[in-house]
Amino acid sequence: MARYTGPRCRQCRVEQKKLFLKGERCKSDKCPINRKALPPGKAPKSRPAKQSEYAVQLREKQRLKRTYGLMETQFRNTFEKALRMPGKTGENLFALLERRLDNVVYRLRFATSRSQARQLVLHGHIAVNGKRVDVPSFTVKPGDAMAVLPSGKKMNIVKDALQEVGRSGVMPWIEVDPDNMTGKFAAVPHRQDITDMADIREQLVVELYSK
Ligand code: SF4
Repeated sequence: MARYTGPRCRQCRVEQKKLFLKGERCKSDKCPINRKALPPGKAPKSRPAKQSEYAVQLREKQRLKRTYGLMETQFRNTFEKALRMPGKTGENLFALLERRLDNVVYRLRFATSRSQARQLVLHGHIAVNGKRVDVPSFTVKPGDAMAVLPSGKKMNIVKDALQEVGRSGVMPWIEVDPDNMTGKFAAVPHRQDITDMADIREQLVVELYSK
């Protein structure tokens, strides 16, 4: 499956928003957005240009897609699936994105970023309900139990990432046992529970793809 391999901070600079793609660096002074970096290739302007409705919708879609680390085809397919589900498409889209195994591994704080979580899954360090799963897009169900396998338990990046549980806790739909490096996806989150995405306007994504 294709994935973005370019500089991650560039994606944030394009969106002019922090997408938290690089773990600890995102919280430090090294973050280019904290240092008010301009979009790539843009010179400072006295007045920002007014964006068209299409440009605003496109930017919101790119931001959501990049935050979860998906390429266009994967994201579009996820949207189409959300569209076929009962209920609000935007909320369904968030539910599907949150149920991806790489995202759940990140939410469990086994990794400091979604890209690091994706690597852990791809390299076979994660088990779901006792079985190794190496597919980042695997859809996790409520009640599924995740564990770091013995190969991953030795890794400092996992141990360091789990320190964050003590500092910031976990999302309300996640249960984690940092000492045993295990956890559970207790429930599919409601949109309002995904507080770190509160400023994303998923309706704009729905409007963009409905054209
Ligand atoms: Fe984005 Fe993190 Fe890079 Fe800052 S450090 S620009 S939040 S990826």
